Amino acid sequence: MGEKQVESREEGYFGDFGGMFVPEELQAVLGKLEEAFLTYKDDPVFIEEYNMYLREYVGRENPLTYAERLTKKLGGAKIYLKREDLNHTGAHKINNVIGQILLAKHMGAKRVIAETGAGQHGVATATACAMMNMDCTIYMGKEDTRRQELNVFRMELLGAEVVAVETGGARLKDAVDAALQDLVENYQTTFYLIGSVVGPHPFPTMVHHFQSVISKESREQVLAKEGRLPDAVVACVGGGSNAIGSFSAYLKDESVRLIGAEPLEAATMTKGTPAVLHGFTSLCLQDENGDPLPTDSIAAGLDYPGVGPEHSYLKISGRAEYFTVTKQEVLDAFQELSRTEGIIPALESAHALALVAKLAPEMDKDNIIIVNLSGRGDKDVAEVKQLLEQRAE
Ligand SMILES: *Cc1c(COP(=O)(O)O)cnc(C)c1O
Repeated sequence: MGEKQVESREEGYFGDFGGMFVPEELQAVLGKLEEAFLTYKDDPVFIEEYNMYLREYVGRENPLTYAERLTKKLGGAKIYLKREDLNHTGAHKINNVIGQILLAKHMGAKRVIAETGAGQHGVATATACAMMNMDCTIYMGKEDTRRQELNVFRMELLGAEVVAVETGGARLKDAVDAALQDLVENYQTTFYLIGSVVGPHPFPTMVHHFQSVISKESREQVLAKEGRLPDAVVACVGGGSNAIGSFSAYLKDESVRLIGAEPLEAATMTKGTPAVLHGFTSLCLQDENGDPLPTDSIAAGLDYPGVGPEHSYLKISGRAEYFTVTKQEVLDAFQELSRTEGIIPALESAHALALVAKLAPEMDKDNIIIVNLSGRGDKDVAEVKQLLEQRAE
């Protein structure tokens, strides 16, 4: 991403990870973004506006549901589900999109751009742009537009322009490069809305802030229902935004284990090594030349060779733990929640459930686990049908 790479100041770092490794012209743009974020995040009018949209548009607060039948079936710790699947657009992504689009509006941007892989972040961004009457351009690798035709149509239906990126491998990485190039050329009118706790500073910090609503709610809810904190919080990790949002309110509660689940086929946290990717340092799956390795998860939202810098720090510092689950365990968990609780989870969220299926039976009956149900599974039923039919053959 350009030759000139300069390190950011200290506040962009989580231990040795994070930073702002971008060309000079982008540093100035990101500096302005940081300034605006720091001003508005504590502004009472901005906070009330954000909370109003979360309430009236997203449908928060969402419930913390006791999964009674799943708990009995697994025979150990008591399991609660944090219901991000019930948000408008069906996942946690909208929490962050609403926060950033309000920031864009206050900064005077007329146009929002975003990158998308499978299309979930693109759809959430296009949704908020429609509601806010903002121009919206979504960059998507040409290869991905072919595989996710229906999401391309959804974004167009919502009024967004989808640009199929043909450079490089025509995948997510190339879409990010194209979006950053657009930002360099059009920064005076354009806001780049990133979809996870990744990218150069201030994005990981900003997305952390907007997703922290998940654990602010769950902490109060579990205290009201049980009179005490959970023993473990479990979430799936792609870029890491739903996991950071699920963990953040418990970071100082040493008794609460924070546990991330990732696919064996994209095990960045368990097998990655430090590298610079997309403008920040973090753990990354890479080959001997330092190029990102291809990943192959059944959950599109987890199919990324990097991870947010804060997770790398939480792992190295020992505050959070990360484990892999197999495709088979994920498919089992997907069906198990559907049958026992009448809730079809997103394939991404089924990774967290697959890990809970291994953890809960080893814990006491008076222990409590909160698992973040990051999204609903409607988008995945066709694919799961195909996978189960293949397995039956
Ligand atoms: C995008 C997505 C994820 C993965 O992204 P994170 O930033 O790791 O949270 C997980 N679950 C769902 C439902 C998603 O749409």
